[in-house]
Amino acid sequence: MPLVPMKQILDEAAKKQYGVPHFNVNNMEQAQAIMRAADVASSPVIMAASRGALKYSDLIFLRNIMMACVEKYSKLPVALHLDHGNNLESVKTAISLGFTSVMIDGSLKEDAKTPTTFEENVKVTKECVEYAHPFGVTVEGELGTLGGIEDGVGSGQVHLTNPDQVEKFLKLTNVDALAVAIGTSHGAYKFKIKPDPDKNLLAMDIIREIHKRCPKLHMVMHGSSSVPSDLLDEINKYGGKIPPTYGVPLWAIKEGIVAGVRKINVDTDLRLAATAAIRKFLHENPEKFDPREYLAPAREAMIKIVRERYTEFGSAGHAFDYEPISLDDAKKFYRK
Ligand SMILES: [Zn+2]
Repeated sequence: MPLVPMKQILDEAAKKQYGVPHFNVNNMEQAQAIMRAADVASSPVIMAASRGALKYSDLIFLRNIMMACVEKYSKLPVALHLDHGNNLESVKTAISLGFTSVMIDGSLKEDAKTPTTFEENVKVTKECVEYAHPFGVTVEGELGTLGGIEDGVGSGQVHLTNPDQVEKFLKLTNVDALAVAIGTSHGAYKFKIKPDPDKNLLAMDIIREIHKRCPKLHMVMHGSSSVPSDLLDEINKYGGKIPPTYGVPLWAIKEGIVAGVRKINVDTDLRLAATAAIRKFLHENPEKFDPREYLAPAREAMIKIVRERYTEFGSAGHAFDYEPISLDDAKKFYRK
C-alpha cells in the first residue's frame, strides 16, 4: 500500500514543477470522490483531515475511511495529512492514527485564534518536527496569518509572510513545507469584487523571494478554493442564500505554482459542489428521502471539481512517475 510521506509527493512535484491539490475530507462520499478522480487522472493524493473533521467523526471513523481509500486504490501514492494541528498533542494523535504528514499551525496559539510571536511559533513547530521526523512523518508549518475563519481556525487578521523570517524559521525548525500568507483566506468569502487578472491579487513577489532563498522548502497556499460562480448560482437557484463572493481564481493559483508553490489547499469548493447537487436533487425530487439518492449526485459533483483541480494544478498523470517510499525510508532520510 503506497501510503507515502507527503514530503515525497511534494519533492516529486518540485522536480517537475507542478502543484498538488490538498483536499479536506469529512465523510465517505468526499473521500471516494477524491480517490475516484485521482484514479481516473492518475494523480498522487494528499488527503487531509482537520481537527474539526476528526472530532466530528470521533477520530476513528474518518481514520478508517482514509485507510480504506489507501487499501482500495493500492497503486496510487497517498499522503494522509493533519490540517491545522494546534499543539504537539494533536500532532501526536494524528501520528498515532497513521497519518504520514502533519501540519502544526504555530502562527496561532492553541485556541487557533490568537496570533503568536515568531519565537512562540518556532518553539512549538520545532517541538513537533523533533517528534514527527523520527517517525518519518512530514511536517508543514505556517508563518504569517491568513484572513478568514474556517472550522474555527483563524484570527481574522492578515499578516503577510516575511521572507526574512522564513529563512530563519526554516533553519530553526527544519520544517518540510510551509503555509505562507500571501493574501488568500479561509472559507467562501475571500474577495468581494471579481479578481482582475491585470491587477496583483496575491503577493507573488513573496513566493518568488522565498523560493529563491529557500529552494527546497515546499510552499503551501491555504484558503485556495476558487468558489466557482456556477455552483453559487446553482445553490441560490434551489433555495440557498449565499451572498456574492469570489475565490482565488485558477490563474492566480497557476501563477503561484510557477513561482514555487507545491501544495494548494482546497476545501470550500467541494462543500459548494456537494451542497449544490443535494439542493438541486431535493428540489426536483421532493418525494425522495433515501440519503443515497442525494449523496450519489453530491459525490459525482465533487468528482468533477477534484478532477479539474488535478488537471489544472498539473498533478494529473504523475502518480506513477516514481517508486513510492515508506515512512521507514523517510526515517533514514531524516537521520542523515
Ligand atoms: Zn488552512
